[in-house]
Amino acid sequence: MNVLVINCGSSSLKYQLINADSEEVLAKGLCERIGIDGGMHTYQGGGEKTKTEVDMPNHTKAVQLVLDALTDPKAGVIGSLSEIDAVGHRIVHGGERFSDSVLIDDEVISAIEECNDLAPLHNPANLIGVRSCRDLMPDVPMVAVFDTAFHQTMPPKAYLYGIPYEYYRKYKVRRYGFHGTSHEYVSARTAQFLGKDIKDMKIIVCHLGNGASISAVKYGKCVDTSMGMTPLEGLIMGTRSGDLDPAILEFISRKEDLTIAQMLGILNKKSGVLGLSDGVSSDFRDLAQAAQDGNAQASTALETYAYRVAKYIGAYVAAMDGVDAITFTAGVGENNISARAEICSYLTYLGTKIDDEKNNIRGEERVISSDGSKVTLLVIPTDEEMSIARQTVEKVSGR
Ligand code: AMP
Repeated sequence: MNVLVINCGSSSLKYQLINADSEEVLAKGLCERIGIDGGMHTYQGGGEKTKTEVDMPNHTKAVQLVLDALTDPKAGVIGSLSEIDAVGHRIVHGGERFSDSVLIDDEVISAIEECNDLAPLHNPANLIGVRSCRDLMPDVPMVAVFDTAFHQTMPPKAYLYGIPYEYYRKYKVRRYGFHGTSHEYVSARTAQFLGKDIKDMKIIVCHLGNGASISAVKYGKCVDTSMGMTPLEGLIMGTRSGDLDPAILEFISRKEDLTIAQMLGILNKKSGVLGLSDGVSSDFRDLAQAAQDGNAQASTALETYAYRVAKYIGAYVAAMDGVDAITFTAGVGENNISARAEICSYLTYLGTKIDDEKNNIRGEERVISSDGSKVTLLVIPTDEEMSIARQTVEKVSGR
């Protein structure tokens, strides 16, 4: 079964065509600047990556370009559209309504729309992708896979905020968590890689990318996660602040004469390690280089980042009354050797021992703790697209 995985943003569309039986990625690509001048389509089928400048006035045009590329007689990977058996759509927010992926029909689309309020930047864009694909492939089954679904198993004590309950009752203000497909995939793979049953394990997954979140997965179910009602809460990220005293919003907005929207822009786009490093970069490679070159603020940003991750790990050990495995994933988690080492340097109280030689890897599945470590430390590269493809097959074939 071939599954087209679509991740549609407001002006971009990322896709992969996956043979779900062999789990081979047949083709992948990215449409950028949809609805803006200077559109660009990057495509990689079997051969070289190509970049084509092409205007895409709307998402339907972008999806049409994708389908044309996939079926192109030269660079394409399928003979006709009939070889696309299903489409899996990444949907950011499923609210409390969706605790699992679901076959898309009109009623599901309306229910996703009802969650738009909770993710006003993401959900409407995701839905544009759904509608464009339905227009062009009306008979192909489509599945919505939610970033929030895996975290729906959290108990109220983990998802409620300490604010008047009426805001939960009236507006569903609560922790939802994100990166769910990644946390689900990586926790399952951690158990599988160790040859254990996930139902016997307490796992902490550290998804450390430009966006970053941690989850506590107890016996296969998420019991807590660091992102909140929006992805702004929790860890310090590339450009997002993570946790802070909410009174800071009012304080800075008054001092700098900023609106709440402007403040949220700063907390989402100008904070994190970018802000902490006084503008050096949101990219950990640049920060490491700057720190090595003696930039003290870059060093402080990296230290503060690692310290926050270590504190969350401690919290989740408490939440689960123990931990068997701590797994690092995503751009920083998979590739940043020194960040992993620094985070693990806070964890010796758990009896963890990182093995510097084993830790000296990038982007591969591996145990990085020494044999005597009481907690197994691992790197497991995440694969959100594969996870979406698998869930799509599951729903389409009614498994
Ligand atoms: P993601 O959002 O998962 O793509 O992760 C992006 C982050 O991963 C960026 O901050 C990159 O600096 C970081 N990253 C990617 N490759 C490396 C690497 N080889 N060494 C250090 N950090 C890396």
